[in-house]
Amino acid sequence: MSETLEARRRRLLGPNVRLFYDHPVHVVRGQGCRVWDAEGREYIDCYNNVPHVGHAHPRVVEAIARQAATLNTHTRYLHEGILDYVERLVGLMGPQITCAIMVCTGSEANDVALRMAQAVTGKVGIIATDHTYHGNTSAVSQLSTTMPPIGGTLSHVAHVPAPDAIAGFDPQAFAREVEAACARLEALGHGVSGIILDPFFVNEGFPDLPPGALDPALAVVRAHGGVVIADEVQPGFGRLGRWFWGHERAGIAPDIVTMGKPMGNGHPVAAVATGEAIMAAFRGAFRYFNTFGGNPVSCAAAMAVLDVLHDEDLPARAAVTGEHLRAGLSEMAARRGILDVRGQGLATGAELESRARADRVVNAMRERGVLMGANGIRYSVLKIRPPLAFGVAEADRVLEILDEVLADA
Ligand code: PMP
Repeated sequence: MSETLEARRRRLLGPNVRLFYDHPVHVVRGQGCRVWDAEGREYIDCYNNVPHVGHAHPRVVEAIARQAATLNTHTRYLHEGILDYVERLVGLMGPQITCAIMVCTGSEANDVALRMAQAVTGKVGIIATDHTYHGNTSAVSQLSTTMPPIGGTLSHVAHVPAPDAIAGFDPQAFAREVEAACARLEALGHGVSGIILDPFFVNEGFPDLPPGALDPALAVVRAHGGVVIADEVQPGFGRLGRWFWGHERAGIAPDIVTMGKPMGNGHPVAAVATGEAIMAAFRGAFRYFNTFGGNPVSCAAAMAVLDVLHDEDLPARAAVTGEHLRAGLSEMAARRGILDVRGQGLATGAELESRARADRVVNAMRERGVLMGANGIRYSVLKIRPPLAFGVAEADRVLEILDEVLADA
């Protein structure tokens, strides 16, 4: 018998390389918010935020192909592509953000952000929540408690409890935790370079914090001389509907903004944006260069994403579709044992009573042709985070199937 794809994958990629679902999906094609497997079966994609404006969006494909057929090189030559893009990108943020470094992954963006915070403050202490993920470089993976580094977390990282949607969030209590973290970092001689947060806490399970809820904690960080880094890898680029950025919804003005995933619709492009003073401190301290970051093809892909978001009015549509989806989930909540429905735009969480049930539901949905995931601090939150091409018709279909699946799972 010939080797299965799963066995071949284990042999070539090594053990313990995660696959989604008990019965993994062999995807071969995607379009809009749908993907197809090797048998031709269609799935509604409610999980993937990287193909932000839709799988294989023709305008992004065309922009990549056109630029790849013209020129692709790095940023040590003059080229308008990166300048046009960065100008447009920073124009979508507050006035404190004026320039950017383009990189290839969210991890790299956060790695640079940590070094920017160090360069401008001269300190190394950094605060993060205890249920976050900011990426996989050796510096950034220090922030993760779910996959702790060998030898344990280094002492310059201080964790504060992640907001919990079910227990409730007290801004003053969170600020006290941050104050205690600053005191620990100072006592150890690290000082406070800053705090790094996903302002919408997607990996923490979408706790719906009211605007302004982070202000007291961020004021503490600033009083200790630290900067605020907003990780927009998950919430950014219009996913939240009315708010183009998670930090905009949180009502905060970060000093550094990192982004990735949806930025190039699948092309590996990411960025870290900041103001002049921080950029000057970073550029003065390090001669940073990224071979692929900001290449003309990446910039063309990223620019096409902004064009499509604008021309197809996708953030506004995400707001409407998301409301519709959450109304449907709320309607079935009591009947189907959903404890809490929350989210904004096309980032929706539906909290169940346990991880085991969330796993059963996610697997049953996959068998019924809907791809979704589960996350949160108890891994009990159904995560519905589709490409923004997802519309009301797809939401209705997903609600119908979910209602049936929840009845038996
Ligand atoms: N920040 C957040 C909030 C993320 O969720 C992720 C990836 N899941 C990253 C950073 C890392 O991005 P990448 O995988 O592109 O390195």
